[in-house]
Amino acid sequence: MSSFVDKDFGEVIVRRSAWSTHVKASVATSGKLTISVPAGTSDFLAKRFLNSMREDIKKKLPIKDPSTQRARDAQKKILMKKARDYLPYRLDFWATKYGYHYSGCRLSHANTRWGSRSSSGTISLNIGLMKVPEPLRDYVIIHELAHINHMDHSAAFWHEVGEHDPNYKRHREQLKQFSPGV
Ligand SMILES: [Zn+2]
Repeated sequence: MSSFVDKDFGEVIVRRSAWSTHVKASVATSGKLTISVPAGTSDFLAKRFLNSMREDIKKKLPIKDPSTQRARDAQKKILMKKARDYLPYRLDFWATKYGYHYSGCRLSHANTRWGSRSSSGTISLNIGLMKVPEPLRDYVIIHELAHINHMDHSAAFWHEVGEHDPNYKRHREQLKQFSPGV
């Protein structure tokens, strides 16, 4: 076994096996690209095989470049810290201003939603909100607070959102340009 670093895939593992009769690319559980080659194949040849399969691999294999993963983890940590110092206070600010009562604030990092309100009254806010402009962030908070009085997205619900955020339609539209995932 040997390995080399590739510009697209990060560390690539070369696995040699006496039983291999042809070259095969796969992804190890570590997320690294693995090239299986017949015993005796040099790294030089393995790289040539990789080049000939490069576009195919990019299309077909779910490669997690470890350095990209690390960068993502670091970004998540930074966002979490920013969110902790900001979102619970901002939620409290709007709730106090408009007289809402909620039982707690939870920070989430789900990929699909900006916020939610549980039946027990806890409001969840996505740490990804720290990446969007403040008016959109406030819109999400006001949206979740309005769910305290309305469990659905009825006309009455939107009317209440509109009372606290007159530009909510525009904010809702603009929010679609962002994704909650980190
Ligand atoms: Zn809603």
